[in-house]
Amino acid sequence: MSFSKPIAVVTGASSSIGATYARHLAARGYDLILVARRAERLQALSAKLVQAHSAKIEAVDADLTQEAGLARVEQILVTNPGVSLLVNNAGNGKLGATVAMSAADAAATIALNVTALTRLTRAALPPFLARNTGAIINIASVMALHSLPITSLYSGTKAFVLAFSRGIQEELTGTGVRLQVVLPAGVATEFYDQAGIPLSAFDPAVVMTAEDMVDAALAGFDQGEAVTLPSVHDLALWDSYDAARAALFGATQNGKPAPRYGTAQVLAA
Ligand code: NAP
Repeated sequence: MSFSKPIAVVTGASSSIGATYARHLAARGYDLILVARRAERLQALSAKLVQAHSAKIEAVDADLTQEAGLARVEQILVTNPGVSLLVNNAGNGKLGATVAMSAADAAATIALNVTALTRLTRAALPPFLARNTGAIINIASVMALHSLPITSLYSGTKAFVLAFSRGIQEELTGTGVRLQVVLPAGVATEFYDQAGIPLSAFDPAVVMTAEDMVDAALAGFDQGEAVTLPSVHDLALWDSYDAARAALFGATQNGKPAPRYGTAQVLAA
């Protein structure tokens, strides 16, 4: 397919947050490469967006937990010079106790949330850096900052997305390439259909629509935010959290055990 406008690659575009990104990005003048396993949904969305925005859209039916699917999308990122935005949105998570989770579910969540996001980010960066332009949006979660007894694995994968993204932001300093990491709280999506806990179990007051979430996240993107927390009204909370994190790291850099661990030394002397 020949594209004429800047291209955004959106993973997990067959539903909810990913489909909402696709609609917003088409309205913003991007051509799209949409990735997910459910090809018929991608085709239906593509047809609507082609009509509404005269965008060129390629639907890529790929399972990002499988080598063939992942390699196919990596290849697109590496070889198509029109790609200027990657939205790493595909993600999942069975919610429940770690011991109750099947090995297959645990492996699939790590493969999608960690391995696929890492490989696609690594595929996109070299061409973006060579052109000194481009952007990556990584969808993490507020669960990156918080673990509950039912979210241990999911929180772990999203903490990876946050830490990986923060490091890359440092690596990109002084370049024309940028990365935004987005930490949504509860969003009313199909995520909960496969998570094992229905959306109806949550207080509706703490759940956002996908439309509001993506609107806010793209507003944060436009404002140049590195970390976007769509539902956090008081941004000073993030600033003080991040400052405390940096101060704690600084306090680890002294090469000596803290005095509270001195008992063993005293006994040994
Ligand atoms: P969703 O409706 O379940 O969407 C997940 C998307 O990922 C679907 O398009 C799905 O498409 C795709 N996907 C799943 N497995 C895949 C695979 N193996 N290969 C390729 N694509 C795959 O959930 P969502 O809420 O929109 O989730 C989007 C992102 O937001 C995720 O990263 C999630 O962790 C994050 N998030 C969600 C919430 C929330 O409360 N909903 C909160 C914070 C963060 P196919 O099934 O067609 O492949």
